[in-house]
Amino acid sequence: MWDKQSAHSSVAPSLVRRIGNFTKAAIAHAVRGLPTADEATIDARLEICQTCPLFDGLVCRHAKCGCRINREKAFLNKLAWADQSCPLGKWPAILPPESKS
Ligand code: SF4
Repeated sequence: MWDKQSAHSSVAPSLVRRIGNFTKAAIAHAVRGLPTADEATIDARLEICQTCPLFDGLVCRHAKCGCRINREKAFLNKLAWADQSCPLGKWPAILPPESKS
């Protein structure tokens, strides 16, 4: 179960947890039609992550994440999925108008 203490821990989630987090995110991403972020959005998100103490230079170490973070417009990059958001609310998801509620 998620709690505030683990969410702010600098200890990266375990591999099993990362796989679980990724699977949940990937299913939601597929249901939304695999929306991708443009390069300007990826760059803006990366600038924010680079100032975050939970970014270790490769992945987000937040307990609810563990995703890879980089500048590439690649499938295995959290920043390149338009529908992803920062678990601490530092940057939002970009959803099509019909997906917002
Ligand atoms: S996604 Fe959010 S919590 Fe994770 S490294 Fe980026 S700014 Fe930090």
